[in-house]
Amino acid sequence: MQAIGIDIGGTKIAGALVDELGTIIREDRVPTPKQSDAIEDEVVEMITRLGDGADPVGAGVAAAGFIDAAQSTVYYAPNIAWRNEPLRQKIETRVDVPVIVENDANAAGWAEFRFGAGRLVSDMVILTIGTGVGGAIVTDDRLFRGGFGAGAEVGHMRVVPGGLLCGCGARGCIEQYGSGRALQRYANELADQGGIGQALADVRSRNGALNGPDISALIQQHDPGALAALRQLGDWLGQASASLSVVLDPQMFVFGGGVAQAGELLLEPIRNAYLENLPARGYHPEPEFRIAELVNDAGVVGAADLARVHAISH
Ligand SMILES: [Zn+2]
Repeated sequence: MQAIGIDIGGTKIAGALVDELGTIIREDRVPTPKQSDAIEDEVVEMITRLGDGADPVGAGVAAAGFIDAAQSTVYYAPNIAWRNEPLRQKIETRVDVPVIVENDANAAGWAEFRFGAGRLVSDMVILTIGTGVGGAIVTDDRLFRGGFGAGAEVGHMRVVPGGLLCGCGARGCIEQYGSGRALQRYANELADQGGIGQALADVRSRNGALNGPDISALIQQHDPGALAALRQLGDWLGQASASLSVVLDPQMFVFGGGVAQAGELLLEPIRNAYLENLPARGYHPEPEFRIAELVNDAGVVGAADLARVHAISH
């Protein structure tokens, strides 16, 4: 049983024909056009190309933004001029397969649940640590969307009342404390202090600024300053996980995104902070903390699988 997954990113539209084991059979990509109408044209053409000669049961289209619980209308997209856009209907009338629309982080999280680190559990939270903090929630083997479809925005869970202003307009979101950008901030603060931050300061004065790859390289060398910055990050993510655990009780937390390539060096401070901050500690079964296994194409594979799930259930 094959399905098509499309992931509309900021720079490219990626698509694939995917089987029920999450294996990509054929794939395609084009640059993302600027105009929203042109994006829809590209998606229609890609679905047609990928389905040619095959028999897909549906197509899932993933994009950043708020999408309604019926996987149909894009309420709002941050990077595309979609406001209450009936995207599913617009695409479905132009292709010969059923279409669903899904938030891109949800689609990628679903792929991790079905085919990656979460494949053996029923309840999982994934936090994707990139420039910001994204994520997805699976409860009882189902993707959690919320009543309006705008749930699972885990990056905007408040961890500091009145804290740092976030891009979403609120203050104190975990995105401001647990993201790649926050890691850079911690690294710069340590570089300013000297001491264990000396290697960070040296790189900064050599390159003019500290970027993610610089910090990652120092983490890989177990530089004490870079590791201290990573521990600060992990501490916040562990605290956020403890709050999420009280509400959702997942068997597993998965961490993805570029920063998660630090592996166990990131998971250790997360686990420690989780245990320190967990209410009723000692009486709560301990979830697993894992690094995401799917690196590329998770959005495409997840979108395809959600289309397949939709086809089965309808
Ligand atoms: Zn926010």
